[in-house]
Amino acid sequence: DNVIRVARLTKTYETAAGPFPALRGVDLDIRRGEYVAIMGPSGSGKSTFMNLLGCLDTPSSGEYALVGRNVAHLPGDELAALRNRTIGFVFQGFNLLPRMTLEDNVALPLVYAHVEREERRRRAREMLARVGLEGYARSLPARISGGQQQRVAIARALINGPRLILADEPTGNLDSHTSEEIMTFFRELNDEGITIVLVTHEADIAAHAERQVRFLDGLIVSDRPTPRMEMPT
Ligand code: ADP
Ligand code: ADP
Repeated sequence: DNVIRVARLTKTYETAAGPFPALRGVDLDIRRGEYVAIMGPSGSGKSTFMNLLGCLDTPSSGEYALVGRNVAHLPGDELAALRNRTIGFVFQGFNLLPRMTLEDNVALPLVYAHVEREERRRRAREMLARVGLEGYARSLPARISGGQQQRVAIARALINGPRLILADEPTGNLDSHTSEEIMTFFRELNDEGITIVLVTHEADIAAHAERQVRFLDGLIVSDRPTPRMEMPT
């Protein structure tokens, strides 16, 4: 019952200096309901790997099955539809559209899913309430704080009912208190059965995951359960 099944995955970028192997043969299975932190130094291949998991880019070689579907064999439109209904994306920079209201930002994935306008609006408002932002539906992103913007981005990620959240440094632009709030919300989502894959540099953010996978130079160099801290006695 794997949400993600990756085998011998490679990605080589063509650069002016010649080919650059950003991923050099990655194997990783992630079961439904897991909460996985992806760690590793800058340049180790984390973003490249997340882009492949999100079907935002294609590998140079290897296999990737997303919810049991081999993505290499899917035509582009089927892949886009699979991605849209399976994955919610959360980014470090929130990536809200500045001229759109919060409600319209949240509803955007429903436009691609061909949901009609009134239904989009209803579901977007419901999702904004879920992240504690009822009353802000008609505001623009610039009017709210960074932590609130990230909650809007999470509402957008959830609107299609995804089984998988891919989050690339979602707390990278947030203060520690706001980061903890976002992490608490991720924990609730995971408790509801949503699989989460989270890239982070920070050990205390990674500690919220149950499993920690570490990249170095385009390879996975460790994959282990998060050590549980003992309560002081
Ligand atoms: P991380 O997310 O761990 O910082 P990245 O996946 O962004 O690592 O990058 C891994 C390596 O691949 C880095 O050396 C980076 O410069 C290189 N890289 C990433 N994207 C590209 C690209 N589009 N073209 C060329 N090189 C790239
Ligand atoms: P992150 O902070 O997520 O690692 P980066 O700032 O490294 O992101 O990269 C931002 C974007 O630029 C990504 O889409 C990445 O693929 C691309 N990129 C990174 N390194 C290179 C590179 N050496 N050449 C071209 N594109 C790159």
